Amino acid sequence: MTPVTVIGLGPMGQAMAGALLRAGHPVTVWNRTPGRADELVRAGAVRAGTVAAAIAASPLTILSLTDYQVMYDIVPPDALSGRDLVNLSSDTPDAARDAAGWAAGHGGRFLTGGVMVPAPMIDTPAAYAYYSGPPEVFAAHEPVLRLIGEPRHLGADPGLAQLFYQANLEVFLTTLSSLLHATALVTASGVPAREFLPDVMRLLTGIPAMVGDGAELAAALEAGKHPGDLSTVTMMGATADHILRTTDSLGIDRELPAAVRSHYQRAIEAGHGSSNWTALFEVMPGVRQ
Ligand code: NDP
Repeated sequence: MTPVTVIGLGPMGQAMAGALLRAGHPVTVWNRTPGRADELVRAGAVRAGTVAAAIAASPLTILSLTDYQVMYDIVPPDALSGRDLVNLSSDTPDAARDAAGWAAGHGGRFLTGGVMVPAPMIDTPAAYAYYSGPPEVFAAHEPVLRLIGEPRHLGADPGLAQLFYQANLEVFLTTLSSLLHATALVTASGVPAREFLPDVMRLLTGIPAMVGDGAELAAALEAGKHPGDLSTVTMMGATADHILRTTDSLGIDRELPAAVRSHYQRAIEAGHGSSNWTALFEVMPGVRQ
């Protein structure tokens, strides 16, 4: 079994190191706050005294840190020679590309990645993760990475995994903000959250049936065609306006619904009123090059 090092033992690093140990891999760990390694050490992991020693202990090191800057702060460049690193920390695609160049410049091989589930779901059938970087490095470590979750290699460009990660997380974070904002509308009107949120969960799970699957949406966006008379820009835009006016009448923060209404206003002004709501794509600056 390949020895694996895990650096960064927040909830994600701890869960990943635990999965590797359970699968029988020799695991070396390092964390700035050493106590976060205690449980893993009790389960059989080896605690390294320094980051350099941790990287030297295994051909493969997984980083799970706040962002890429932390990697530069703690990893001595001369530790990289002949080693493979997989950075599963969040950052921008450009930061990931820079880091791949930095590692290659010091003789290391580098994959970037983004895990798409929270720590309790690591090593469950629901877990999946994006990777990008040299295909041969991914192929060499795919069996280990599979222990974290279903791995999907997106290509050689080291920025792709972070691009997919951030794009998915945009949907996730915006949805979470809208959940809280919508709840504020209801609670400001004197209705307890518990009477509202279960209905919203029903709405969330119904969205794919309402808007079509990803392939249908992609086809419309790629073709730039938005026919349809069910969910037109005019109808949805009127609702976006009602949401903003309701927000204002209750004195709740208006930033999120104002941004959404502005998409519809722009689409209507551009003549897309009778098109399907997907026509908003055409009026987002930068979308069509
Ligand atoms: P945490 O914030 O709990 O842990 C961050 C890790 O970075 C800790 O090990 C922390 O060390 C370390 N760290 C931060 N700053 C420094 C520093 N200056 N020097 C040394 N070490 C430092 O994060 P998570 O485990 O939740 O997440 C790790 C990564 O995974 C993040 O990039 C996150 O975006 C991503 N992710 C998280 C998910 C989640 O649900 N939590 C899901 C998918 C991805 P210390 O313990 O000493 O503070």
